[in-house]
Amino acid sequence: MSPRLRHLTTLENLPRETIERLLDRAEALRDACAHGTRKLDVLVGRTVLNLFFEPSTRTRTSFELAARRLGADVINFDIGLSSTSKGEELFDTLHTLEAMHMDAIIVRHKQSGTPDELVRHAMSGVSVINAGDGNHAHPTQGLLDALTIRQHRPDFENLSVVICGDIKHSRVARSDINALSTLGVKEIRLCGPAELMPTTEDVPQGRRVDDFDQAIKDADAVIMLRLQKERMASIDLPDEAAYFTHFGLDRRRLALAAKGCLVMHPGPINRGIEIASDIADGAQSRILEQVGNGVFVRMAVLNEVLAR
Ligand code: ASP
Repeated sequence: MSPRLRHLTTLENLPRETIERLLDRAEALRDACAHGTRKLDVLVGRTVLNLFFEPSTRTRTSFELAARRLGADVINFDIGLSSTSKGEELFDTLHTLEAMHMDAIIVRHKQSGTPDELVRHAMSGVSVINAGDGNHAHPTQGLLDALTIRQHRPDFENLSVVICGDIKHSRVARSDINALSTLGVKEIRLCGPAELMPTTEDVPQGRRVDDFDQAIKDADAVIMLRLQKERMASIDLPDEAAYFTHFGLDRRRLALAAKGCLVMHPGPINRGIEIASDIADGAQSRILEQVGNGVFVRMAVLNEVLAR
């Protein structure tokens, strides 16, 4: 059996067995807490800290819900009201919070590598979970996307999955690619404007397909990504209307995919830029299912790193 995780900062190089264990546990926890209506007591007496240096709706809320459903106490650290805004060094903030005996720190930061830095500096008892760092990794999103696909199409060895949009700046794309390739997905196709595609050195996996009509042909799942303008300082933003024409998901394009193709997006979605409203809200959309699965995946991860 693969060893239990102490921290989760990336899915890169995680054994398939570990990823499958987390997905299986997410499903078991979903059933055990009756889809969220019953609270469990596996983490009673444990304290989880949400340390978010970048905005978040889904991830922060679902980590909080996940921890509470397992019986843990949750502290939401408000950066705006904290000494960090007075210039306190990150590691001083870390040690201050550790001195109050946190069991897990869930961190989101604009700088890639911050969660790994915290792991190197953290005291021995604390677990660090990455809730998104720069364009590097968003491991719980990678897991929840894999779970969402698995619930509809467990036959990963037959699947073609398209990831479309601003892949260069996307930590979600990197973690999705790690999860899906480890789980044996037949083909991952990457599509987006040339200036928003990662180099093969940066992201070696995935077949690059420039034209979205070609990329989506017979695909079983399509993961659309947000244009991450906040990470695009030195890039000319694509004109939004032209972007939608070339890389937006609409009814005509979805018809080129395999029947029942799963439509996914990590959110927040920009309607009419990456995805047409009728498709985001349509019968094939799994976007809200992704959100729901996020809670169970985060419960599984907290349970993995914290349960005694
Ligand atoms: N919510 C995801 C993230 O934090 C995707 C996005 O922001 O576009 O990476």
